[in-house]
Amino acid sequence: MTIQWFPGHMAKAKRQVIEKIKLIDIVFELVDARIPASSRNPMVDEMISNKPRLILLNKADMADPSKTKEWIDYFQQRGDRAIPIDSQSGKGMKQIVAISKEMLQDKFDKMRQKGVKPRPIRAVIVGIPNVGKSTLINRLAKKKIAQTGDRPGITKAQQWIKVGKELELLDTPGILWPKFEDEAVGLKLATTGAIKDTILNLQDITVYALRFLSNQYPDRLKDRYNLQEIHDDIVITFDEIGKRRGCIMAGGIIDYDKVSELVLREIRSEKLGPLTFESPAEYE
Ligand code: GDP
Repeated sequence: MTIQWFPGHMAKAKRQVIEKIKLIDIVFELVDARIPASSRNPMVDEMISNKPRLILLNKADMADPSKTKEWIDYFQQRGDRAIPIDSQSGKGMKQIVAISKEMLQDKFDKMRQKGVKPRPIRAVIVGIPNVGKSTLINRLAKKKIAQTGDRPGITKAQQWIKVGKELELLDTPGILWPKFEDEAVGLKLATTGAIKDTILNLQDITVYALRFLSNQYPDRLKDRYNLQEIHDDIVITFDEIGKRRGCIMAGGIIDYDKVSELVLREIRSEKLGPLTFESPAEYE
């Protein structure tokens, strides 16, 4: 999916999310466990106003488990419930209903006291493109439902998907736009594949990714590409990976685009193991 957000698009996306929020009891905010801050939209708080929110750190299978724990603590310290999930395998998903019930206990108790007939909890999933909204909806629905979000120009009545007896989910998620005016955020979104490589320069993304790996996961980088040591000069790392993997052009020149494609593909397909690209400490 190409993301090109213009002010008009943003205003429309925001309006659509706000419309959905009105219908529900609880928001499931989906973030990418590899970049739990950069994959959020800073305006989400404003959009969901005072509705309870459960933050779901999706793709937890691809993230560094110790960092995921740090992020869960970080969100909880700030007053948000948060859990790791893997929408592809379904891991962690059972907790969604249980925690939602807990979070809405007071509201539903009050409704009961007023004599309102008990009804399922109503929820909507919100998140940036590629974070796994459709995958989660399909998992919860136990069948294929969600298309890739709302299509422009097509208005469609909201449908509720039953998830067991206790939860109803809007069949179309709320799409938030990623905020990548900050270069580091853009590079993280690109490294994880949340935004297309063509938005940023391929080699810039890879320089960022290799620097990050050199600092945070040097052994994995060494093991994967058979490097003797990690150099401060990232060009040397590029060259060595290029030589080891045969990314060489005529005349023996290293093909940096090829190295970049290879490294990013391998990061995204977990050849370097589960990775998390940011820590709560950077945001405190
Ligand atoms: P959407 O744009 O938010 O609806 O995202 P999709 O549901 O289309 O998911 C984007 C990509 O991420 C797809 O290739 C999914 O298979 C993949 N994906 C979604 N959830 C998970 C997850 O929990 N773990 C892993 N490994 N991949 C996931």
